[in-house]
Formats: sequence, structure tokens, C-alpha cells
Amino acid sequence: MGESAKKPVIGILGGIGSGKSTVANEFAKLGAKVIDADKIAHKILDEKNTKEKIVSVFGKEILDSSGQIDRKKLAKAAFASGEKIAKLDNIIHPPVLTKIEQLIEKYQKQPKITAIVLDVPLLMEIGWHKRCDKLVFVDCKQALRLNRIKTSRKLDKKQFEIREKFQISLDNKAAIADNTVDNNAGLSALVRQITDVFSRIMNNR
Ligand code: ATP
Repeated sequence: MGESAKKPVIGILGGIGSGKSTVANEFAKLGAKVIDADKIAHKILDEKNTKEKIVSVFGKEILDSSGQIDRKKLAKAAFASGEKIAKLDNIIHPPVLTKIEQLIEKYQKQPKITAIVLDVPLLMEIGWHKRCDKLVFVDCKQALRLNRIKTSRKLDKKQFEIREKFQISLDNKAAIADNTVDNNAGLSALVRQITDVFSRIMNNR
């Protein structure tokens, strides 16, 4: 197989609660395979050696009553400073990225899969935008994102702002994207745009 037979790797960029996973799911309905970094990270957090490393940095306080990592407590402890975030990233990112690499390789070989979508929250922060053939930016106003996230993840305004502060600015993300979808309206409007973007990406190979 030559280089041209490769499936496009589509990266999704956007602010917290902008609709990145919703967009990824729509791509999946069109035949793409989604790699969900959050899901991978959660599995890795459950592994014994990860847990040990995390406890050695953040202490036993971040465990729940059954001895498992309490993700909410861990997030609170990590987002206390840039240094703490870096420490957590150093533990979690390498195994997550290895897993993503393996999945990309596996999905490239599966004929039924038409494209590979990376639903990776900090795609640009980790430099993986360079590995994507196409980047799609999900545009959504902050007030709307905050509202949607409050209901779905119960993240309050303060936590939202702290997390956003540690990310590359949305202007920079929008600037490197090949396509932008507007997610300030309802789902049907979003679906129409995704269908359009997907066919453009697939025809441009
Ligand atoms: P995160 O930053 O937490 O990873 P995300 O960017 O992946 O979030 P989603 O989880 O896709 O965002 O969307 C956030 C919430 O908003 C979800 O509950 C989702 O169902 C809802 N949502 C997304 N798009 C729309 C829309 N167009 N209309 C109404 N609700 C929406």
C-alpha cells in the first residue's frame, strides 16, 4: 500500500465543552473510527503502576474509600499549579500516546474504516496536530460552553476557567484548522456541517 492509500487522520480542536466529542460521534456515524483519549486515560488511571506513581506525587488524599483514584480529587490537586499539571502529564501522557499510536496503526489496516478521528482534548498542546491530515475546529461561545458543561460534567465556572487558562488560546487553534464548524446552534445544524466537512475531507485525499 502506498502513502496515498492511507486513511486521513482528523484532529478535533475546540474549547472545553465546545462539542468535540459530539463532533467525533457524528464522524463515527459517517464511517470514521474515533480514538477517545479521555477513555484511554481513564483506563490507564486504573492500572496499578500508574496509581502508584500518582499517589507518590499527590498523596493518598486523591484516593476514594475503595482505594481507587478519585478523578475529581486528582483534577483539583493537579490544577493547583502548572508544575503539578506537568507532573501528572508526565505520568499519564506517555502511556496514552503509546496506546493512541497503536490504535492508529491498527485502524489504518482495517478496510471498513474510512477515516480516523482523534478526540484528544489537548491535541495541540502535545504537538499532535502535526500528525493529523486535517484539523477541524469546533467554534462555540464561552457562555454556551459553560452552560453545556455545567449540565453534562458538573464542572463549575471556577474549575472551567482554571482549566481553560492552561490551554493554548482558541484563536491559535482556530488559526491552524482546515475547517471550522459552528456549534452555537442546535444539533441538526452541527450534523449538516459535519456531513459537509467529512465529504470535503474524503474527496480531497
Ligand atoms: P470536553 O471539553 O469536556 O471534552 P467536548 O468539547 O468534547 O467537551 P461535548 O462533550 O461534545 O464537548 O459537549 C458538551 C456538552 O454539550 C454535551 O453534554 C453535549 O451533549 C452538549 N452539546 C454539544 N453540542 C450541542 C448542541 N449543538 N446543542 C446542544 N447540546 C450540545
